[in-house]
Amino acid sequence: MLKIYNTLTKKIDEFKPISDKEVGLYTCGPTVYHYAHIGNLRTYIFEDILKRVLEYNGYEINHVMNITDVGHLTDDGDNGEDKMEKGSQREGKTAWEIAEFYTQAFQKNLKELNIESPTTWCKATDNIPEQIAFVQTLTDKGFTYATSDGIYFDTTKFPSYGEMANLQNQELEAGSRVDMGEKKNPHDFALWKFSKPEEKRQMEWEAFGRKGFPGWHIECSAMSSKYLGHHFDIHCGGIDHIPVHHTNEIAQSEAAFGEHPWVNYWMHGEFIVMKNDEKMSKSGDNFVILDTLIAKNIDPLAYRFFLLQTHYRKQLNFSWKALEAAQTGLNNLRNKVLALKNKNIKTLKHENTSPDVLVIKTSFLEKINDDLDMPGALASIFDALKNDEIDYETILQFDKILGLELDKIKKENIEIPDDVQKLLDERKKAREEKNWSESDRLRDEIKALGYNVEDTSEGQQISK
Ligand code: AMP
Ligand code: ZN
Repeated sequence: MLKIYNTLTKKIDEFKPISDKEVGLYTCGPTVYHYAHIGNLRTYIFEDILKRVLEYNGYEINHVMNITDVGHLTDDGDNGEDKMEKGSQREGKTAWEIAEFYTQAFQKNLKELNIESPTTWCKATDNIPEQIAFVQTLTDKGFTYATSDGIYFDTTKFPSYGEMANLQNQELEAGSRVDMGEKKNPHDFALWKFSKPEEKRQMEWEAFGRKGFPGWHIECSAMSSKYLGHHFDIHCGGIDHIPVHHTNEIAQSEAAFGEHPWVNYWMHGEFIVMKNDEKMSKSGDNFVILDTLIAKNIDPLAYRFFLLQTHYRKQLNFSWKALEAAQTGLNNLRNKVLALKNKNIKTLKHENTSPDVLVIKTSFLEKINDDLDMPGALASIFDALKNDEIDYETILQFDKILGLELDKIKKENIEIPDDVQKLLDERKKAREEKNWSESDRLRDEIKALGYNVEDTSEGQQISK
């Protein structure tokens, strides 16, 4: 039985799909005005694990991910610049070129992290008529009003507004924290924005009698209903989406479709934060992307392994030291799996039914089905690797969830340059003399040249 934490009910619920076999899953995708930072990527890895766990439980997944290539303003209160137009000014390219470039960069990151592709990718700009029709439906049903700068959703017409995020309990004095502009209520949000008369936008469309562009939330409601229908199983994102983006998606979709709940399970991944709780941002020192890791000789899958060690609902602190430890941990796991492969490469013919292995498999399944307890699942695997009965194929079955490409490990024949070999020899001598500080210093020196050393029962093992 699969159990998952549902932000809607605020408890761990048994997962019951709407239809027997296929699960409808919508995950909010990137705003493609810059590279995804490693915080963003944590959310996509959590969603990938969810998908793999559903697949492991025998479900087929109809997974839709959007690309926000228009309409995401720099603040959540429907003010500020459009992030795409901002990206275009920053780089001197058109907004369309920016969107194309960063969409490709994002999809490359997903491959590098071994994240499975969605069944359907959809771009906001490819679905403008659907969004206009959605705003029209809401207008026909009496949920909207127009101001001089856009068409807004009137949250007072939707009594359960903000239930998932507990917003009803938050006293929001009009104008105190939110720049109200001509909005009637603080939580009201833009469904459609009108282009300002003085500005020439690169991305704008004729609708409602003027030029304009969609509000950020409407794309997810329009595209999820297009591909998954008016009622589907699971919707995910990072926790920052709970109070604004997802709250607004729920309001506009339930108002338009009359379905409650519109989505049965809402799942949110916690953030990864920098030291001192600083936010990860898309500019400045806190802007760490996957390429930054690769440039420091950290394998993207070591970042994946790093994330698996913490439950997706726990905040995680980023540090280079922890990431390096994860790289060593992954190398260690790979070495163990390779040794296992070499050990039972000839003997494997049938599924392993040893009682020990059955216990291990059950324990692994219990962990992943317990709200995606990946730290627990990893611990089961390391325990399993200590058991003489475990076989390579069973570990590969587990890797269907981990996604660490344990089936692709091969012993690398690394050519060791002379200077690195000299340091290795010095380190061997230092270790024989039990001079651990010198040994550590030499390890760092070797690392600076791009090689990792591990101490195994067979001596120093080197990897790139
Ligand atoms: P964006 O491209 O800004 O729309 O964000 C893409 C995804 O990354 C969203 O699901 C966000 O909730 C998520 N996200 C943003 N910052 C972080 C972070 N520091 N840690 C984890 N997820 C994040
Ligand atoms: Zn969304």
